Parts: sequence; structure tokens; C-alpha cells
Amino acid sequence: MLTFDRPTRAAAPSDLVWVFRGRELVGSLLGSPGAPIPYEEVAANFSVREALIPVGYLGDDAVYAAVIDEAELDMMRYVGSNLFGLIGRIDESLFDAIGRAYQLLNWDRDHRHCGRCGSTTQLADKGQCRQCETCNLSVYPRLSPCIIVLVTRGGECLLAAAAGGNRRFYSALAGFVEPGETCEQAVAREVMEEVGLEVGNINYFGSQPWPFPGQLMLGYTAEWSAGEINVDPEEIDEALWCTPDRLPPIPPPFSIAGQLINSFVKKQTGD
Ligand SMILES: [Zn+2]
Repeated sequence: MLTFDRPTRAAAPSDLVWVFRGRELVGSLLGSPGAPIPYEEVAANFSVREALIPVGYLGDDAVYAAVIDEAELDMMRYVGSNLFGLIGRIDESLFDAIGRAYQLLNWDRDHRHCGRCGSTTQLADKGQCRQCETCNLSVYPRLSPCIIVLVTRGGECLLAAAAGGNRRFYSALAGFVEPGETCEQAVAREVMEEVGLEVGNINYFGSQPWPFPGQLMLGYTAEWSAGEINVDPEEIDEALWCTPDRLPPIPPPFSIAGQLINSFVKKQTGD
């Protein structure tokens, strides 16, 4: 389990590093999937692009994140795994920890300069924020709250394929929470915008960090109250009322969308 205190000293040879190459996590072929690599080994084998980013502690070991420039990996020693490909293959808490590392790397890269005055920023507040050297503006890692809602109508649930040609999954509806809006208002607004339905009895289900690049998914259930399906073609290809015995391809059970759908199916079938 990763603790979130971020190491404030420079990395030592025995510290651990999650190495990223684009959207891939690089792992040792000898190690278990998702395991970080000792810094000593990273320094000897990769050209690390910039300073290591402190992430936290795994037990007593300080863990950092790094981006490497290698166009190709030594296939006899290392393997690159797409982050999405790790979902379901590794323990959920390990995936969330790697997601934290990936998100902190992106946050650090995107906030080298102050958004207010343009001066350079430095890590401050025990490495938790980037602070402007000139105007002191502090920028902490940003999360974007995003609701995801499974709408039900009696024994059916509403599943939708997102616009954009990828019909691999039919999922629950989702969208970002707007400034000045409660999550429940966002649920009602997104359902109306995307499929033209009114909903009520909105209830919180659970949450999941989704570090692509910085969402916090907030899961809800809601009951249909009025309207016929009328999709916004910019957002949705197709939306269907589905019964548990006739489901289209749905997201994996690791995702909160999968959990929402599976929970509905369980209730309906009494499993
Ligand atoms: Zn500034």
C-alpha cells in the first residue's frame, strides 16, 4: 500500500522508480507486473528525461516517477505495459498508486511555469505543490470531478455507446461536474443533455480515481422519471434500455461503470 507523504530528498540508489514511456509503464521482465524498478538500475539503463518526481512510500521505500526517452526497450530485460492494459491484471490499490505517479508526472510537466505571471515554479510544501518564484502562486495537483450514472427504469438499465466509432463498450453515462454545480445536478443535467431523459431518486454509489489525466469518477444511480431516449449525436452513438439477461458488451468489472452495472444485475437477478 502506498502512503502519500512525498519524499523531499533527492532519490538514493536503492529508492524505487515507476518508469513511464509515453502512456506505458516500463517494468522489469523479472519483476511482477506494476512493480517499480530500483533507481540504481533505472539510472544505469535509461535516459531519464527530467528530475524524478516524488510519489510516496511503499512500506519503507521511497518511490519516484520518471519519464524516459528511449525509442525502444531492451526486450530481453524490460516490457512496456499500456496503463489501460494493467487494469484488472494488477491489484486495484497498486493500479491506483501507479495512476497517482502518472498523474503527478503530468501535473509537474504542465506547471513548470506560473499560469498567472509566467515565471518558473519550484516544488514547495513538502513537494506537494508547485509554487511561483515571483508571485508565490501555489498550484496543487488538480482533480476533475466527473459523475458517472446508471439510469434504471424498472428491470432495465440505460447503457450507451459513446460517439467516436469505438463501440466496444456500452456503458453508463458520464460527464464533468461544472463550476457551481452539485454532483446531483450534474447527474440530472448530463442525462438530459446526452439522452433527453428526466431522472429522480439520485443516489451516490462509490468513487474511483481515473488518472487519464486527472478525473475523480463519482458513481451514481438514478431512476428514470420522464421522457423518451433522444441522443445527442455529438456525445452518444446509441443508447439502449437493457435487461440483465440481454446486455451488450459492458466495461470490465474493475471500472466503476462495470461495478454499477454488475450491482444492478445482481439486484435484478437476486444473485
Ligand atoms: Zn507567478
